[in-house]
Amino acid sequence: MERVKKILRERRESGTFRALMPLTKRDAGIISFQDKRFIDFSSNDYLGLSGHPRLIDASREALNRYGTSSSASRLLSGDLDICHTLEEKIAAFKDKEAALVYNSGYQANLGIISALCKKGDAVFFDRLCHASIIDGILLSGCRSFRFRHNDMNHLESLLQSQRRNFKNAIIITETIFSMDGDKALLGELVGLKEKYNAMMLVDEAHATGIFGSNGSGVAQEMGLNNKIDLVMGTFGKALGSFGAYLAGTKEMIEYLVNASRSFIYSTALPPAVIAANIEALDIVRDEPERRERLLENSQYFRDGLRAKGYDIRGESQIIPLIIGDAKKAIAISEAFKEQGYWALPIRPPTVPANESRIRFSLTFYHTKEVLTKLIDDADRILKI
Ligand SMILES: *Cc1c(COP(=O)(O)O)cnc(C)c1O
Repeated sequence: MERVKKILRERRESGTFRALMPLTKRDAGIISFQDKRFIDFSSNDYLGLSGHPRLIDASREALNRYGTSSSASRLLSGDLDICHTLEEKIAAFKDKEAALVYNSGYQANLGIISALCKKGDAVFFDRLCHASIIDGILLSGCRSFRFRHNDMNHLESLLQSQRRNFKNAIIITETIFSMDGDKALLGELVGLKEKYNAMMLVDEAHATGIFGSNGSGVAQEMGLNNKIDLVMGTFGKALGSFGAYLAGTKEMIEYLVNASRSFIYSTALPPAVIAANIEALDIVRDEPERRERLLENSQYFRDGLRAKGYDIRGESQIIPLIIGDAKKAIAISEAFKEQGYWALPIRPPTVPANESRIRFSLTFYHTKEVLTKLIDDADRILKI
């Protein structure tokens, strides 16, 4: 098709072409690509749980007991009892009445938003929200308003000017923004939600397992779980597994079981995955030092780069180094690769034009020694 050729050509010319890079090995934060080893700064295995013996054992046991597949949608015969165990644990973890497991965060956002928002409703969402949130809004077909990142005045002016035009309003934000590593202003958002009688959905994909005294997320850290209607998050990042969840009222979960198409029309997660998810929640409870160390090291890394004069945003384990031009970001990423760091360029359309960046995703495996060397190497690479 002519369009296909044209788009591929444009992508190549503008430095935004993407290609897959098959790895031959992944072990304890080290990956192998084309016979070379790299320290991985691109994974979301924040707590290092993907290789944790307890997760592996739990998976293996479920595999032996239930086989490899759930073999059907939850509404048919795919509804294993362990999935309910997992949902009860999530509800307690999030201090909510009930929870629902989705097959991935992408499917969760698609299924939740499209089931909740209908014609006549309006969605207000942060400009930096993840593609899965945007796709959920598009699928819902309702009107949507994008507010400038963490700009509460902008959000309020939109709510104010639209308040006579919608039946229901829903405010959506991530709690830790995936490309900038900063936090949402949850307290202010809850204030506006209450003032304008809106609902609120937060995406804790990058916060689950890391923030809050029990590792539940930023909503818990700020004492706002009971003020936020819907809290979603994933098992594929800090929890070292796969899948996603939504926590909310019992009524809301009953509704989604009946109305959320990405939940209804998809085979349930494999039992080995469900079992690993359960175990991951127990490890978050049992080993708080993992998240404490991660946040401490993230601060150390940010401070180190700032001391060298770089302007570093954020307050999480996601640390962006803004480069600007997409092609320059590629060249810098290549220089990092030559030094043994797998730190990839993030380019438009994932981030705004002229905000291409190297995004460092810190994990349990990045010790202070590794980070100290990286700070020096980064400074050298960026000065070239
Ligand atoms: C990764 C991510 C998702 C998607 O989750 P998956 O389980 O990987 O599909 C959703 N929202 C945000 C903010 C994410 O970063």
